Amino acid sequence: ILSTIADFTAIAIENSRLHQQVSNLTITDDLTGLYNARHFQTLCDYEMERASRYGNELSMVFLDLDHFKKVNDVYGHVGGDNVLQKIGVIINLGIRENDLAFRYGGEEFAVILPETDEKGALLVAERIRGMVEQKTFEPEATGLRLTISIGFSTCHNASSVREVIIAADKALYVAKNRGRNRVVGAEPTID
Ligand code: GH3
Ligand code: MG
Ligand code: MG
Repeated sequence: ILSTIADFTAIAIENSRLHQQVSNLTITDDLTGLYNARHFQTLCDYEMERASRYGNELSMVFLDLDHFKKVNDVYGHVGGDNVLQKIGVIINLGIRENDLAFRYGGEEFAVILPETDEKGALLVAERIRGMVEQKTFEPEATGLRLTISIGFSTCHNASSVREVIIAADKALYVAKNRGRNRVVGAEPTID
């Protein structure tokens, strides 16, 4: 009997491990290991709900690599993917444990900063922007350098997820138009 129970237990543990692997695959992006776009919506709703229930601030950060098409043109798609993977590492290095990072599109990323106001969001965004600017990507000899444009928005009270996303997206658009390689905060902040 004991051996039968042990067998069943082993199967249960194996199943749960497998389930965990499958769920990780459905919420993360293969290339960067960051959360994927599908999971963005889920976590957005969850974090916004939490922020409004406890009256906390929340900041939303959108990031888009500058002139990334050129990287693909010069280094090929594999070279481009290699760069994207490293950008994922940089974003992870630039955020805290509670922050949530996503690969939102091809070379577009998003970060949700719970309990973070404008000052905090600007700090995080500038840190990531600076790290990307400083990084020399492989092949090292070619000295490939890149920049990133960042837009963010902050909400202080209950606002719709949609509003916060639209505001951050608009701020990113402004950052691009002002010449790229910069951080722009949405104005005015959302209440
Ligand atoms: P900018 O954002 O500064 O306006 O210029 P951009 O060249 O980055 O322009 P845009 O955002 O419109 O184009 C994104 C390009 O990124 C298109 C494509 O060549 C590349 N790209 C998108 N997804 C991937 C991907 O998964 N892998 C690779 N290697 N390249 C990608
Ligand atoms: Mg883009
Ligand atoms: Mg781009």
